[in-house]
Amino acid sequence: MSTPEQDTAVRQPVATTSEAAPTPAPSGYPDEQCLDFDNVSKFYGEVLGVNRVNLRIPPGITSLVGPNGSGKSTLMNLMTGLLEPTAGEIRLLGYSPRDPQNLFRHLGYCAQFDSFPPGLNGYHFVYSYLRVHGMSGQEAKQRTEIALERTNIAHAADRRMAGYSKGMRQRIKLAQATAHDPQVLILDEPLNGLDPMGRAEIIDLFKELAAEGKHVIISSHILHEVDLISDQVILLNEGYVVAEGDIRSVRGEIDKHPLQIMIRCDKPEALAMRLVRMPHLRELKMHDDRHGLLVATADSKAFYLELNDIVLEENIAVEAVTPADEDVHAVYQYLIGSGQESTS
Ligand code: ADP
Ligand code: MG
Repeated sequence: MSTPEQDTAVRQPVATTSEAAPTPAPSGYPDEQCLDFDNVSKFYGEVLGVNRVNLRIPPGITSLVGPNGSGKSTLMNLMTGLLEPTAGEIRLLGYSPRDPQNLFRHLGYCAQFDSFPPGLNGYHFVYSYLRVHGMSGQEAKQRTEIALERTNIAHAADRRMAGYSKGMRQRIKLAQATAHDPQVLILDEPLNGLDPMGRAEIIDLFKELAAEGKHVIISSHILHEVDLISDQVILLNEGYVVAEGDIRSVRGEIDKHPLQIMIRCDKPEALAMRLVRMPHLRELKMHDDRHGLLVATADSKAFYLELNDIVLEENIAVEAVTPADEDVHAVYQYLIGSGQESTS
């Protein structure tokens, strides 16, 4: 996918006024082919689930990425109508999640946590769901068989799900979600618990579904687990969308996002003279009381190493070195992983 019109935005996780709320990124697709969030918030009593989310999700693979508690499942449950937004509007392919009968014809959903009717085998789990959809026994049987083959769980279809491994449970949920051939798939942590082989197979299935023009929306708490397969990535932190776009733009934005550091010392002028020579320095400001410097660097590791040398060489007495916006930076670092993945 990666349409050229796709927008990228990095937003600070701070509350904005509704006037300043960002508008959805134009995707070049009409409303009937998109999932739209218009200024959506969900509070659980006083606990923030997600806040002021504006999104437009076109077909293809979209990954919701963020640490535990960042709001991924909340967003998915809002999309599927299992939760009502506290504020804002949601549309899936033009349908309201408040219209489940129409919505679920076009929607397949895998919840993050398993909850299977006791005593059921895999085949009946998928088959009964299709019957509830109103399909004839013959059609439900055919579709069940196709779905079980496609998700590679046909061999265990007549076994009780109570004895399934985590990987098998992920597959049978996926079989159920895809069996009625929906346009939109919402899959909460579908790769969790799969071994590398299983993961590769399931990822191939996602790619296949995306190539058919479907929406495949998956969540993960680690960016490098899903980055290379995603057409669009949405980074969440503490209920806010902090970055969105195709992976190249998101990475670019993260790399460009400089870390701000406050340094308090006895010779800020001497320190400033040395710091300005750093190629990765983005900003340098003297504090009003002339005892501190506020700097922004694009390479915090290099910055700290060089700072040590400068302090020793110039004999500077340092009182404090504090990252000014560690929260945002730390979450990016966490999401990117430990840096072993290749940048594309
Ligand atoms: P994620 O899926 O990214 O781990 P969630 O959407 O589950 O995040 O949670 C987002 C926030 O909402 C967290 O602070 C979580 O504790 C809170 N939350 C989620 N579900 C509930 C609930 N049913 N009641 C109260 N708080 C909830
Ligand atoms: Mg979750």
